Amino acid sequence: MISVGSNEKFDAETCIDLSRFEEACRCEVYRPFSFCLYIFSRGRIFMETKHTLKACIYGAAVGDAMGVPYEMAKRGTFTCDGTMVGGLAHNKPAGTWSDDTAMLLATCDSIRELGFISTVDMRKKFLSWLNEGKYACGGEFFGSGHTTRTALITGSGQDYEKSNGNGSLMRIAPLAFCNVNQFSGWTYEEVIEDVSAITHAHKISTDICKEFVFLLNDVIHNHLDGHHTDYILNILPELDVLESEVDSGVFVKDTFFAALWCFTFTDNFKDCIIKAVNLGGDSDTTASVAGALAGTYYGYDDIPQEWIDTLRDKDLIDSCLF
Ligand SMILES: [Mg+2]
Repeated sequence: MISVGSNEKFDAETCIDLSRFEEACRCEVYRPFSFCLYIFSRGRIFMETKHTLKACIYGAAVGDAMGVPYEMAKRGTFTCDGTMVGGLAHNKPAGTWSDDTAMLLATCDSIRELGFISTVDMRKKFLSWLNEGKYACGGEFFGSGHTTRTALITGSGQDYEKSNGNGSLMRIAPLAFCNVNQFSGWTYEEVIEDVSAITHAHKISTDICKEFVFLLNDVIHNHLDGHHTDYILNILPELDVLESEVDSGVFVKDTFFAALWCFTFTDNFKDCIIKAVNLGGDSDTTASVAGALAGTYYGYDDIPQEWIDTLRDKDLIDSCLF
């Protein structure tokens, strides 16, 4: 519930009438943290970039599916040669994607259904994934992180330092395809922070989510200099390291850095994903984040057709896009 003005109250669960939200925007809004709503005008969602959202989400999903068989495998103990295989770590059929894509789809579906961003609705959809397998590939829930599960079950985003896994980074990309209504009273930064904080509320996680969304924004709006965005150009000296210096565990900073490293030092979608998977460790999430970025940058047509063909549950993916 958000209180608007002195007495009037809007029920966050049911109040989806945009005219009432616009009214809410004009009032002084009291915003209890766990029930905040972000008001987007339907018309302000960038519909003209639909093909880019599709490229982003499919990029993430194929990256996830390529990495699932090797999740937590030690670097150098396996080689992904570019074939989308099944079995191994989770013993799933080829093309199976995991929690990364499921949460990404739940995020998209919430924005698609409401036309604005609601952390209440997103959390509800994450719970339907956790409890009922909704948004899960083949309806089978697997691969979720401890912080995500704890936050969803307790209703409280985790904010201690050790809770900075990559669980919110893996699902934040759709926010790059939304435009915060200037009159909503919240900044883009606040929106990203609070969407991350549904599960990952520590500043390290929320800061990395912001950096990723703004980087995707640069790509979407073609703020590019050759292969690089300004953001990447600025950190290029940092990125210029040997593979042995790239950590690919679950720490959110490492995942973001590893994904950027793979994107920066390849020149096509396929090579970027193969590089990410072969880093090992949290290979599905590293490849999923790299895939979201590379998909957005190179476009849907650069994703290998055989990977799209093998990818499971494409109808479910398509049904969640906005
Ligand atoms: Mg996963």
